[in-house]
Amino acid sequence: MASERSIFLIDGQSFYASVEKAARPDLRDKPVAVGDPARKSGIILAACPIAKARGVTTAERVGEALAKCPDLVVIRPRMQTYISISLLITEIYESVTDQVEPYSIDEQFLDITGSISSYGSPEEIARQLQTHVHVATGVWSRVGIGPTKILAKMATDNFAKKRPEGIFALTFDRLEEDLWPLPVHQMFMVGSRMTRHFTRMGLTRIGDIARLELGEFKRRMRHEMRKQSDIQAEYYWQTARGIDPSPVVPGIRNKLKSIGHGKALRSQLYRKLEDIEVVLLELVVEVCRRSRRHGYMGRVVSVAAAGTDGERSSWFSRQTTLPHPSSLTHEVAAAVHKLFVEHWTGLPVGRLSVTLTELSDDDVFQLTLFEDRAAAYRIERAADKIKDRYGSDALMRASSLLESGVARERAAQIGGHYK
Ligand SMILES: [Mg+2]
Repeated sequence: MASERSIFLIDGQSFYASVEKAARPDLRDKPVAVGDPARKSGIILAACPIAKARGVTTAERVGEALAKCPDLVVIRPRMQTYISISLLITEIYESVTDQVEPYSIDEQFLDITGSISSYGSPEEIARQLQTHVHVATGVWSRVGIGPTKILAKMATDNFAKKRPEGIFALTFDRLEEDLWPLPVHQMFMVGSRMTRHFTRMGLTRIGDIARLELGEFKRRMRHEMRKQSDIQAEYYWQTARGIDPSPVVPGIRNKLKSIGHGKALRSQLYRKLEDIEVVLLELVVEVCRRSRRHGYMGRVVSVAAAGTDGERSSWFSRQTTLPHPSSLTHEVAAAVHKLFVEHWTGLPVGRLSVTLTELSDDDVFQLTLFEDRAAAYRIERAADKIKDRYGSDALMRASSLLESGVARERAAQIGGHYK
């Protein structure tokens, strides 16, 4: 097929742990994991291959990992460093194609269709990038290659990660031999719940789904799920056949569609509205500050909250449209507060987030502001400058000094991890 694309999904092996080992040559032959060494109940975020060979697994407790591997070196995560290295890796990929889409901190999609004539075959390009990234960052890359994003992803997860050379190509004409014999839980987006459904339906291999006629698969899914499930059925059937028209979308990091911020809380501490309000305000402060920094105002404000008392749990996500686009703290905070009070069921809150969407450039609105809003903007921007220079804890609202304030703690963290 002349129009067939060539797409990579490149994954960094043990990403955080590899970055740490590159920074500490003395740890080269030691088992290394990333997690909080001071909290035995915290989780292992990444483990190097030596640690994995000794039984350490990602997402287990630090204490459990140390019990299995007493000489494990546990290093506190440095998220800011990992983000910088992830961006550096994006730049390396951009040396062969401008079509690079970050998928997670250690996974990126590349469309190299246009690069094949100048840089070699897909496998040759994959090897060049592997070497380049390894030399520059110490991270070993696994490269899945496919004609669609979904096949590139499944080539990485099911094949490239398991091969010493770290490269594997799935092609449409060999799907039957390569992908279809795999158990159904190895298909992308199939978790334990769907695996149980498929097993009950007698579909144990990916090929069992792919070989069915779509109408028949939809009928059997409806019967199994006891509800309308045609959209889901179509998604899984296409995945099994590697069908995925979605393009690699470059530069997604520059095109913000929303600005949001969330926080996981210890729910036993957040039972009272007055305590939750403090966190809501902190989230609004951060979201508004980031909006202003990017030059945006948002028209729609959303609040999401999840709560549990140990027995019951509940969550909601609600949004409201502001009378005019805004990134002013007091305006967004008023909307957030109203939404929360209207929809909170009263259960202790374990997770909160605030998001601003329908973004527009704020320079257009500067001209049409009434004087009181213009004055409010001048004050907030002055505060932004101080925070930009001295850190976000330089100017904290008084409420954050109360016990329930988490902003100070978070100022030293990024994404819930330490800088
Ligand atoms: Mg990885």
